[in-house]
Amino acid sequence: MKFTDFNLKDTIQAAVTEAGFTEPSPVQKDAIPLVLEGHDLIAQAQTGTGKTAAFGLPIMSMMKGDGSVEGLVIVPTRELAMQVSDELYRFGKNAGLKTATVYGGTAYGKQIDRIKQASIVVATPGRLQDLLMSGKIKINPHFVVLDEADEMLDMGFLDEIKNIFTFLPKERQTLMFSATMPNAIRKLAEQILKNPKTVSITKSETTNTKITQLYYVVQEKERDDALVRLIDYKNPQKCIIFCRMKKEVDRLVAHMTAQGFKVSGLHGDMEQKQREVTIRAFKQGGIDIFIATDVAARGLDVNDVTHVFNYHIPFDSESYVHRIGRTGRGGKTGEAITLVSPNELRTIKRIEKDVGTKMTTQVIPTRMEVQNNRSDELIAKIAQTQITDKAIELVKTLQHDLDIVTIAHLLASMIQSENTVKGKDHIGLGLEEIELLIERAMQNRGGGGGGRNRGGYRGNRKRSGGDRSNKSGRNRRNSSGRNSRNGGQGSRS
Ligand code: ADP
Ligand code: MG
Repeated sequence: MKFTDFNLKDTIQAAVTEAGFTEPSPVQKDAIPLVLEGHDLIAQAQTGTGKTAAFGLPIMSMMKGDGSVEGLVIVPTRELAMQVSDELYRFGKNAGLKTATVYGGTAYGKQIDRIKQASIVVATPGRLQDLLMSGKIKINPHFVVLDEADEMLDMGFLDEIKNIFTFLPKERQTLMFSATMPNAIRKLAEQILKNPKTVSITKSETTNTKITQLYYVVQEKERDDALVRLIDYKNPQKCIIFCRMKKEVDRLVAHMTAQGFKVSGLHGDMEQKQREVTIRAFKQGGIDIFIATDVAARGLDVNDVTHVFNYHIPFDSESYVHRIGRTGRGGKTGEAITLVSPNELRTIKRIEKDVGTKMTTQVIPTRMEVQNNRSDELIAKIAQTQITDKAIELVKTLQHDLDIVTIAHLLASMIQSENTVKGKDHIGLGLEEIELLIERAMQNRGGGGGGRNRGGYRGNRKRSGGDRSNKSGRNRRNSSGRNSRNGGQGSRS
């Protein structure tokens, strides 16, 4: 199937071609025809599956462009408002459809001026409610979209949303998009949608198969070392590290900076300007690593995020889905890596079940493995380097006193000396230990009369902790993770 099959307006189709979209994503395939037929819609699909275009393209294709506000898109956060309006601007510019972005924390004047010229308003609930209730704006949008509806409810915007709808025309087409469909969403849908069609991309499709999901089992105090080692090994181009608390974000930013990484924190109470600057730096590559809380990184759409790290496993499956959805965007591949302590293995199993996916367990690479990885990269880099006149001069000078092999050895040693891997050699648990722990954890699951089992579990934890110097117990060679070697192509500059 191609985009041209939808028969979108020429100007809109031209923008799609310009954006380089060739094949519609599953949610786009299902949703676009229904929207074009004029139906209300409730659509569920994972993050990163192209929901913005799924509603943006058909509604823009149907707009008259008469200068009034014809479309309203409500999104949970300021970042998303900016992101969605950027994308809609791209689609609509050939058709002369202007976009206004509306969110709190900035002056009213400019936003109101922009709304007056816009065909589409992309807004966060708080500021939009403000503008409508105070009578500062009057709009009659025919198309109304609730984007990331589940997140809006999570963030406590239900009352605002209900109130906003009292200001909107009864004759309208309403579309609701959500990554998950908890009951509260269904209830809201009943209130604001009329005979809606449903689009639900089934589980196997919902979980973006382009994302490899791995987890590593470490002791609580090993998390920092494990994180540094994995980043050294994977050498991600751009990555996001998720923490549960802002306090942890701050601590990790300090720690990773001290380790020489280009990192920045992102959390909810950063000033808007500062957030924008930080996100831009991340997009442009001035920062390689974002350390963020769930709320701060919601919906963040940065291309080329190669890895997502869960420093701690999130409390619920929905957060997990949202977090890992920051990578593997726009058809690219990505890796999601979770650090868990032995007693969090049950959470892993629960998330696997909820999300309908399988995560693979691996063993944290040793110093030697990182070194080998780097040597491979180094060899490739040396082979690709252009020989310069200055280099020839330098070798000639060195040759007065040294033979050519010694010179080569000296130069290689010089490069290698900058290449030492930090940290202790073995971090985290070995495969056999992990498998045993999983078995025990699953046995304990039923709960009833678990006294004996529970005792066994603890006993085992202790023993496996004491066993850590015993390499054979780690079963490294067996690890299925060895082929992930070729994962770390990007270079940290
Ligand atoms: P979602 O809202 O589902 O999280 P987005 O709408 O933000 O996803 O889209 C994720 C990324 O994929 C964006 O960068 C977008 O430009 C890109 N994208 C969307 N649809 C397509 C497509 N059909 N082909 C290629 N890239 C696409
Ligand atoms: Mg979206």
